[in-house]
Amino acid sequence: MGKSLQSVAIVGRPNVGKSTLFNRITGARRAIVDPVAGSTRDRNTSNVSWGGRSFQIIDTGGILEEMDTPLDEQVGAQVEIAIGEADVVLWIVDGRAGLLPEEQYLGKRLRDLGDRVVLVVNKIDHASGRADAMEFHRLGFSALYEVSAEHGLGVGDLLDAIIQRLPETLIGADSGEELRIAITGRPNVGKSSLLNCLSGEDRAVVNEHAGTTRDAVDTVVEFEGALYRFVDTAGIRRQGKIPNQADRLGVMYAERAIERAHLCLLVLDVTQGVTTEDASIGRKISDAGRGAVLVFNKWDLVEGREEKAKEMLQVAREKMPHLDFAPIVFVSALIGRALRTIFTRAIEVREQQLRRITTSELNRFLAAASSHFPARARDGKEVNLFYLSQTGVSPPSFVLFANRARKELDPTYPRYLTRRLRESYGFEGTPLRMRIRKRK
Ligand code: GDP
Ligand code: GDP
Repeated sequence: MGKSLQSVAIVGRPNVGKSTLFNRITGARRAIVDPVAGSTRDRNTSNVSWGGRSFQIIDTGGILEEMDTPLDEQVGAQVEIAIGEADVVLWIVDGRAGLLPEEQYLGKRLRDLGDRVVLVVNKIDHASGRADAMEFHRLGFSALYEVSAEHGLGVGDLLDAIIQRLPETLIGADSGEELRIAITGRPNVGKSSLLNCLSGEDRAVVNEHAGTTRDAVDTVVEFEGALYRFVDTAGIRRQGKIPNQADRLGVMYAERAIERAHLCLLVLDVTQGVTTEDASIGRKISDAGRGAVLVFNKWDLVEGREEKAKEMLQVAREKMPHLDFAPIVFVSALIGRALRTIFTRAIEVREQQLRRITTSELNRFLAAASSHFPARARDGKEVNLFYLSQTGVSPPSFVLFANRARKELDPTYPRYLTRRLRESYGFEGTPLRMRIRKRK
């Protein structure tokens, strides 16, 4: 999967303190920082470890100075680097100088990156300087940190915020990270049987309280070197057993589990097809932006399996169009059939959730997709599409810049683009998000 280390880019106009912050972050922890050798970026790129995570930090300003980029182009070029490469972008502003007109552009562009951006108000050397930071709150970024790069104030909190925003790396034997899975579905479809099966004798590592809510118990399982955390399994074991309350409790447990999971197994009873309750749990999964695998259980009860599989495929797509991206598996918790398939699908879905397509690749895609089917506005006029950029993962999120707002655009167009994205890149098992931004 492309680059190995996650990266954090520092952007901002000249003199706000980018290189001071870079040196503070890298120099202050010299023992665990090693400059990336053998590139022109030696002095501006460094590997950092903090709180058990590692990332590469890039001072984009420094790089551009070395490349003799004219000053007025630097700011724009920094953003391009940041959009293209970084998992997290630190936008540095000078808390004493306030916001300058040339920074407005940067702010506008960075807003489109959403949660990937952390606004850093630098040169807050004393508590009295905090009033100066007020005007930056109005920019509306969800993350704002006041620091003094020169004196090292607030830098620890900033590093904490950075690692919180780094997307989780792919799980694997060596990474030690867990894939969090929610087993959801109506009562009696076989969730607890499936859990028993998946966490069979040699696989269950531990049953543990998750710590957030008193009765949230997770089951952690190791399978072929990877760790899987089945979340809120106490809820699964309980929900079917309380008459009357069962449905209501079931929904409550399901919601909490979905919230905590990377992806969800939606368990269905193959002898019953897809009910409206099944579909509404599915809706919660896609609304929450989580990955999904449709697990048709009780496959042992089916005769004429080939036909049944075809029928279920069709019924699932028909009754749950909002989960049309989800792979479908047929299993039997009773006889332990196809367990490996569930683990394998889960990993595949996670990979797709974390996929990132570069802006240049997306723009080749956009050119092809829009020449095949030009975008139109509701009033019939042709719409100019400027570019497409991926702003996040899990779920993969995109922003399309056009000369019209979403409400003016032919409503089928974002759906068309999403469909083409899936045709070109897969993204099986994960919802996609597409926002439209108007730009002149
Ligand atoms: P860059 O051009 O964005 O990389 O900015 P520099 O890191 O070169 O810093 C520009 C100027 O701001 C230098 O004179 C720094 O000493 C000063 N500076 C940087 N951080 C701070 C800070 O936290 N407080 C104060 N008072 N000055 C700072
Ligand atoms: P839950 O309420 O979703 O947790 O469902 P359970 O795991 O308690 O299963 C409900 C009923 O379905 C039990 O009687 C199970 O024995 C039965 N069941 C579960 N999985 C299978 C399966 O794969 N095949 C068959 N034939 N029965 C199953």
